[in-house]
Amino acid sequence: MTQERDGILDVPDIAMFAVTDVPELVAEYKKRFGFSPEGICLPLTTSGGLSYNSTLGIRNVSPARDGHVRDLEWACRAAAGEGLQIYLCIDPTLPFATTSSDFSLVDNTGDESPKCCVVNRLTREAVRTILNETASVAQKHAFPVAGYVFSTQNLWPMGAEGERLELTCFCRHCWKAMSEAAPDLDLSAFEKSPNPWNLALRDSGSGISHLHEIAPGDQPVAILEKSKAREYYNPAWYHSEDAALGAARQLFLYLHARDRVTSHAVGEMLRAVPAGTKRVLISEPFQYDFTDGMFLATKVSLGVDELWMPPLPAKLREGAVSDVSRPLPRVRTYLAARARYHVDALFNFIAFVNSVARLDPEMRSKDRQDLRTRFVERSQRMLQSLHLSKMEVLAVRAENRSFVAPLVTEDAIQRLMSALGLNIRSELDRLTELLSPLRRPPEL
Ligand SMILES: [Zn+2]
Repeated sequence: MTQERDGILDVPDIAMFAVTDVPELVAEYKKRFGFSPEGICLPLTTSGGLSYNSTLGIRNVSPARDGHVRDLEWACRAAAGEGLQIYLCIDPTLPFATTSSDFSLVDNTGDESPKCCVVNRLTREAVRTILNETASVAQKHAFPVAGYVFSTQNLWPMGAEGERLELTCFCRHCWKAMSEAAPDLDLSAFEKSPNPWNLALRDSGSGISHLHEIAPGDQPVAILEKSKAREYYNPAWYHSEDAALGAARQLFLYLHARDRVTSHAVGEMLRAVPAGTKRVLISEPFQYDFTDGMFLATKVSLGVDELWMPPLPAKLREGAVSDVSRPLPRVRTYLAARARYHVDALFNFIAFVNSVARLDPEMRSKDRQDLRTRFVERSQRMLQSLHLSKMEVLAVRAENRSFVAPLVTEDAIQRLMSALGLNIRSELDRLTELLSPLRRPPEL
C-alpha cells in the first residue's frame, strides 16, 4: 500500500531549526493531519539575512545546534531523506537590507523601510543571484527542488494614522517607472492627506481596511460608487462631485500604473527561475491587493504554476475570479489568515532579538520583560491567524484543493522563547507561583 501524501509543510524561517528539525516537523504534520506532506517549503531569506553562504556578502543567519550549522543545505538533505519535494521561498524585498540606501522602500511622506524595492533593477539582480546560487547548491547535491516560491504579499507595506495613509513606494525608481506607466498620474497628489487612496483605504484602529472589490475593468465612476457604498468616501474632502471624480481618476491611474510596474518586476524575477522548476506566488486572493500592488487577473497572466493564497471570505469569492479570463493556475490554500503576514511579523521580531543578543549577549541594553511581552503579543496574533486543525484541512480537501501548512506550533514558540532567553517571568508571576501551594484545596 502506498502511503498517502498531501500538502506542503511550510517552514517560514530558518530560525525554526534552532528548536526543531525536519523529521520532527514531518512527525508533527502526520500527527495533526493523518498523512505525510508531499513537499516542504524552506526559506532562503529572513529579515536577519540568508539561510546559506552567498557571494552577496549577506550574513548567513542559520542557527547552530550541537556544533552543527542548520542551514539550507542541512535542511534540504533532511527533506530529501524524508522523500519530500523541496520548494525554496524568497521574499523579494530582501528584508535584511539596511535603511538609507538606494534599495530602500520609501513611503509617500519620505520615510524609509529596511526592505528593498523590486522596481530597482539592482534588487532584481540580487534576487537572480540568490536563485542561481541556491539552484547550483541543489544541483550539486541532487536535491529534489520542485519550485521557487515568491512571497509577494507585502511588496508594498503600508501604515495609517487616522486619515493619514503611508504607502510605499515612492523611491526614485518607482517615481520614474510609475510616471512612465501613466503620464497623467499626479504622484504629488498622493503626498498630501487626504489623497485619492482615502477612497479605498481606511485606518480601522487595529490595521487598515481595504476596499477589496476594485476590478481591473472598473472605471473611475465605478470606483467612486464602490467607495461611497462601502463608506470610504467622505463628502467633506471634496468641494464638488467633479473633484471627487478627479480623485477617483487619480486612484484608477495609480492602481493600474502600480499593477503594470509591479507585474513587470515580478515577471522578470519569475523568468530567472531555473527551467523545469515551478514558479509559485504567495499572495492574497483579492481582485486588487494594495500590498502586492497587482490585480489577481494580472498575477494569473504572469504564467505562474501555483498560487498559494489564504482562504477568501465567501462574499468576495465570486468577484475575485470573475474578471480572470484565463484558467487559474493550481491554487493551494495557505492555512493562515493574511498568509505570511503575522508569521513574518513574529520572525522579524525574533531576528531583531537575535541581532540585539549578538552585540549584547546579556541583553543589558534592553528591558527583557518588554521584549518578552512583545514576543508573546506577536505569537498570539500569529497563532490566532493559523488554521492548522484537521477540520480546516478536511474543508479544503473537500473542495479538491491542496494546502500549505505553516507549522509553527505553540510548543515551537515556547522553545523559541526559551532559546532567545525570553522565558523569564515577571515578579508578579513568580509571586503567584510561590503562593499557589497555599491556595490549593486540601487533598481528600
Ligand atoms: Zn520603489
